[in-house]
Amino acid sequence: RMQFDVATAMIVTSTLTLAVGASLAVAVSRYPDRLRHAMHIWIGGLLLQIPVFLMFGLLGALPGTAAIVLANTLFAFAYAEMGRAVRVFAGGAARTTHVEMLLIGLLIAVPIVFGFLWPAPRWRLAFGAPVLAALSLGVARSVLAREGPLRAADYLTGGLFVASTVPMLGRAAVELAAPWIDVEAARAISRNLFFLTGSCLPLIGTIGFLLMCNDRINDELSRLAMLDPLTGVFNRRTFDERAARVIADAARELKPLSLLAVDIDHFKHVNDEFGHEGGDEALRLVVALMRETLAEGQILSRIGGEEFAVLLPGADEDDARLIAERLRRHLECSPIDVDGRVLCLRISAGVATLGPGLETLSTLLRAADRALYAAKRAGRNRVEASSTLAEALR
Ligand code: GH3
Ligand code: MG
Ligand code: MG
Repeated sequence: RMQFDVATAMIVTSTLTLAVGASLAVAVSRYPDRLRHAMHIWIGGLLLQIPVFLMFGLLGALPGTAAIVLANTLFAFAYAEMGRAVRVFAGGAARTTHVEMLLIGLLIAVPIVFGFLWPAPRWRLAFGAPVLAALSLGVARSVLAREGPLRAADYLTGGLFVASTVPMLGRAAVELAAPWIDVEAARAISRNLFFLTGSCLPLIGTIGFLLMCNDRINDELSRLAMLDPLTGVFNRRTFDERAARVIADAARELKPLSLLAVDIDHFKHVNDEFGHEGGDEALRLVVALMRETLAEGQILSRIGGEEFAVLLPGADEDDARLIAERLRRHLECSPIDVDGRVLCLRISAGVATLGPGLETLSTLLRAADRALYAAKRAGRNRVEASSTLAEALR
C-alpha cells in the first residue's frame, strides 16, 4: 500500500506547473522571435495539463467517464503542442502532424468507446496508455531526430519523454495482465506512478526545453562573434586570435608556415556597376570560390572590405606561391553570376613566409601586404612573395 498522498502531490504539481508556465511567459520576451514562438507553444502545452492535475488532486481520481474523456483530450493536445514547440524551435513548420492528429483522435475516442459505448476500464487503459506513450515518443523524436548536433539539454529533454513512456506502458501492461494478478492493487500503484511521473514531466521537461533554447542562443551569439556575417568566414578578430596561436606554434616547432594577403582587383567597378548589394553578392561568390581551392586547416578570413588573409600552416614559400597561384587561376577561370550578369573577378595576392624577422602575425601580415601592393603595382591579377621584394631592395 502506498504511503504518500497522490492527491496532495497533484495539487502541488498543478500549482508548480502554473508557476513555471507563468515564469516562462515572463522570460519569453527576452528571446528572439523563433524561440519565443516555440516557447509560447510550449507554455500552451503546459497549461493544458493543469486542469487534469487539479481535477485529480481535488477529487483523488477522475470523476466519471466525461472527466476521463476531458483529461485524455487535454493530455493529447498538451503532448502534441510540446512536440510542435520543439519542431518550431528546430526551424520546422508549426503544424500538428497527421500522426499527431491521429493519435489525438485515438486518445479521445478510446474513453468514449470504452466508457460510454462499451464500458470496460480495462480496455480503456490497455488501449489509451500506449497512445499517450506514442505521443510522448513523438515529442522525444522531435527533440532527438532533428538536424544538427545534439547537446546534453537535448538528451535530457528527449530522454525524459522516452522515460515517461515506461509508467504509461506499465499501466497498459497491468490491465493486460489483469486476469492473472491482484488487479486492484496493481492498478492503484500503476495509476499513482503514472500521475506522479507524468506530473514531473512538465517541470523537468520545461527545464530541459529552456536549456535547449539557451544552448541555441549561445551558439548563435558565438557564431555572430566569430564569423563575418556577409561571407561566413572568420572575421578579423577570430583570425587574429587563431593565427597568432598557430604562428607561435609553428615558430616554436620550426615548422613551415605562410600567410597570403589577398585583395580583389578593381572591386570598385563591381560596386559602380551593380550597386552595393551586387558587390556584396559578388563578395559572397568569390569567397565560395576561394573556399573551393583551400584545404582543411588553411584558415581563410575576411580582414577588410574585399581583402582576405589565408593562413597556410605547413606551407613553405614555394607551396604558398603554388596555393596562391591556384587560387588566382581558379577565380580568373570561374565566372560568377551577379544580378543575372556574368563577370570574372581577379585577385592579387602577396605571400609572406615564416622566417627570421617574420615570426609574428603582425610582421607576417605587413610583409604579405607589401607583397600584395607590389603585385597590384605590377599590373594586378598576380602573386608576389615578400622575399623577392627584399631581394630586389638589396
Ligand atoms: P584594386 O584593389 O585593384 O587596387 O582596386 P579596388 O577597386 O578593389 O580598390 P580598393 O581595394 O581600394 O577598394 C575596395 C572597394 O571595395 C572599396 C569599397 O567600395 C568596396 N567594398 C569594401 N567593402 C565592401 C563591402 O562589404 N561590400 C561592397 N559591396 N563593397 C565593398
Ligand atoms: Mg581591391
Ligand atoms: Mg582593398
